[in-house]
Amino acid sequence: MTIAVLGGAGYIGSHTVAQLVKAGEDVVVLDNLITGHRQAVDPKARFYQGDIRDYHFLSSVFSQEKIDGIIHFAAFSIVPESMKDPLKYFDNNTGGMITLLEAMHQFGIGKIVFSSTAATYGEPKSIPIKEDDPQVPTNPYGESKLAMEKIMHWSDVAYGIKFVALRYFNVAGAMPDGSIGEDHNPETHLIPIILQVAAGTRDGLQIFGDDYPTKDGTNVRDYVHVVDLADAHILAMKYLNDGGDSNAFNLGSATGFSNLEILNAARKVTGKEIPAKIGPRRAGDPSTLIAASDKARKILGWQPQYDDVEKVIATAWNWHESHPKGFGDR
Ligand code: UDP
Repeated sequence: MTIAVLGGAGYIGSHTVAQLVKAGEDVVVLDNLITGHRQAVDPKARFYQGDIRDYHFLSSVFSQEKIDGIIHFAAFSIVPESMKDPLKYFDNNTGGMITLLEAMHQFGIGKIVFSSTAATYGEPKSIPIKEDDPQVPTNPYGESKLAMEKIMHWSDVAYGIKFVALRYFNVAGAMPDGSIGEDHNPETHLIPIILQVAAGTRDGLQIFGDDYPTKDGTNVRDYVHVVDLADAHILAMKYLNDGGDSNAFNLGSATGFSNLEILNAARKVTGKEIPAKIGPRRAGDPSTLIAASDKARKILGWQPQYDDVEKVIATAWNWHESHPKGFGDR
């Protein structure tokens, strides 16, 4: 079976490609390398550089390769950037999905596992968040992904393309052997920013807001290890191959950590002081996001291996310490 991973040179994509290769799957990677890194792609995967908005690119790859299923990561994913430039998000994320589904329909590819997000829920009415809770995004990134879920739903109704939407909470960590990890430029995510300060490649950081209605006033998030997340994609593809119907699953640890708790955990793991200041709130941030993830455990058989946030941070630290310039390609 050949699986095409779109956005397979990105952070979560590259870890999924590595796990698929380890599981003995035949893997094809498509990536435009705008944010991805060529070196992050496992050498056993066949690589095609191009953009998912380009129908001719998709049709040329799908003509050369007999693709059985798609895992789709190719998207922009930075909440504050989406607030400033929403059309960039609707064009690449939502527009890209339309082109992709057209190509899948044309080439008879009937299965897609899709990286959705907790940001589709917006400010939750109750915690933990369940899959059938209302989806009311508070930022264009979440809105672009919610639209993609809806487009997939109607493509299932009309063309029978089956999908699994995996709604990620906060993803962190790196491949435990230190071979690949997180490298965004600019970096906007909390854990890598904290670890860049610890590694001495950044002077300090701000915690965005300490007046939220949470235990210490800072935002609370649910962190899941990138390798556990990668494994969930493989299980989701298996679920579709076994005849599972279109479905959506939260992927989180069901535990919340405040931004200050994450900072303190990182101080403990690294043994560094990590200077930080409290700054203003960041636009578009919900105060608390914690997943109910029993559905993925029950139906997909997902069993996350990392249940301790310090262990998650330790794998990220291993990567940041050994790769202070990331992949070093930009
Ligand atoms: N955050 C912060 N300082 C930073 C970057 C992020 O305080 O320099 C906070 C952010 O406001 C949010 C949490 O860390 O409360 C997680 O943000 P991140 O961008 O890592 O992921 P998101 O939740 O937006 O997907």
